[in-house]
Amino acid sequence: MTPEEFRAAAHELVDWIADRRAGIEELPVRPDVEPGDIVAALPGSPPTEPATPDEVRRDLEDVIAPGITEVQHPMHFGWFPANASLSSILGDFVSSGLGSLGISWESSPALTEVEEVVVDWMRQLTGLSDQWQGVIQDTASTACLVAMLAARERATDHAQVGAGIGGFDRPLCVYTTSEAHSSVRKAALLAGFGGDHVRQVEVDPWTRDMVAADLAVRMEADRDAGMAPAIVVASVGSTGTTAFDPVDEIVEIVRSFGAWVHVDAAMAGAAMLLPEQRHLFAGVDQADSISWNPHKWFGTILDCSLMYLRDPEHLIRVMSTDPSYLRSTLGGEATQYRDWGIPLGRRFRALKLWYQLRIDGVETIRARLRRDLANARWLAEVLDDLPDWEVVAPVRLQTVCVRHVGRDAQGSPLTGAALDEHTLRWVRAINRSGEAFLSPSILDAPDGRARWMVRVSIGVEATERHHLERLVGLMVAAVDDTVCGSSDGGAAGRPTQFDR
Ligand SMILES: *Cc1c(COP(=O)(O)O)cnc(C)c1O
Repeated sequence: MTPEEFRAAAHELVDWIADRRAGIEELPVRPDVEPGDIVAALPGSPPTEPATPDEVRRDLEDVIAPGITEVQHPMHFGWFPANASLSSILGDFVSSGLGSLGISWESSPALTEVEEVVVDWMRQLTGLSDQWQGVIQDTASTACLVAMLAARERATDHAQVGAGIGGFDRPLCVYTTSEAHSSVRKAALLAGFGGDHVRQVEVDPWTRDMVAADLAVRMEADRDAGMAPAIVVASVGSTGTTAFDPVDEIVEIVRSFGAWVHVDAAMAGAAMLLPEQRHLFAGVDQADSISWNPHKWFGTILDCSLMYLRDPEHLIRVMSTDPSYLRSTLGGEATQYRDWGIPLGRRFRALKLWYQLRIDGVETIRARLRRDLANARWLAEVLDDLPDWEVVAPVRLQTVCVRHVGRDAQGSPLTGAALDEHTLRWVRAINRSGEAFLSPSILDAPDGRARWMVRVSIGVEATERHHLERLVGLMVAAVDDTVCGSSDGGAAGRPTQFDR
């Protein structure tokens, strides 16, 4: 493709994207497809003749775009917001258009140094002290794995260069809670800690925040039993119910064990932009690492996960490979981001933040976050006032966890499996309709009550109060249609990965 051909095709594509965004509310939130439908609509063998951009756009319009769950839709309340602000998309576009190669400072000096600057801007905007240095990782899952590896090497005094973790004299333990994101356990297993050494610290039954006293008890017991407490992963804004582990108490406890504290604030970190919300993050400044995802609520197009470290030198020692062909002539002076994580090559991700901050401006972003917090409080109050609806977890930020207590033919409240079935039936009715999308999720209940609830995760850039008013109407109508065993058959299924 020549630059002139690119110019013509790209102009058309930009119009197409802008039109789609402008008309997103007309689209169903969820596509009307079954697994395999899209594969079936596409040719099984590779193209042999070149096509025109117009022909390729027809694939996009006919098959690909209709197969997308519209997470930018204002009636999308599933998982967590995955905002893709158009300003950040400009940065992504420029990143691709420049086609630069980030494998060392020399391979693209601006790629490295713009990243240093925007990561530090974001540090300042979120009120983190200047002891932190940061990097952009692809995702919070990667950041957690990187933290695990750094913690492992600190606990074993760099066993990786010798006998490895297997040669270390004591098993290393990881501490987190049942509320932690699935990526935490995954990272612990991948980093070689072993599932047997992942401890689930008790949580408060209502807030689901880690009980710090139980952490102290467990770490001591492990140390007494000849094990090495290596890392605590604190969930600050958990995925299920936005629980906040008490980082200030955790860092105090952990200090005497010399263990690493990683703060997983993937979703909630955006709230650090709001000074009035920073009390939720007390103690975070004393942790060893923190990561949060601008690619969620904040609005940067995937992927963009900020990770800050208090001792980047340690991380660099763990991650550096330093093959001579990559050695910068400036060695030691310039930042080499390949030594701050796992991949060698990196995209110019910093441009996404650069464009978003420069064009939208931080005060516009803050106002949007505050709007969403107010909308969540409003929704929780409205549902609490409606008969038979209950809010089942504290509303810390923008996620409202709800359940409707349906009634049986005798008018008694549903419990146990019947309530679970009712919950799944009404939420699936809404999701199937394409009018709105919500995530059912399991809420572990020690008292044996029903475990399914529905998360209403507010925060799509386009979502305003009137969308929430419409959602309440849909929810009330959905429970009316599904009350009292009007089964659509087999509603109670296994949770999917996303349900968690
Ligand atoms: C979304 C989320 C993650 C995973 O984020 P990725 O960037 O998709 O890896 C991890 N932890 C929490 C608390 C999350 O909300």
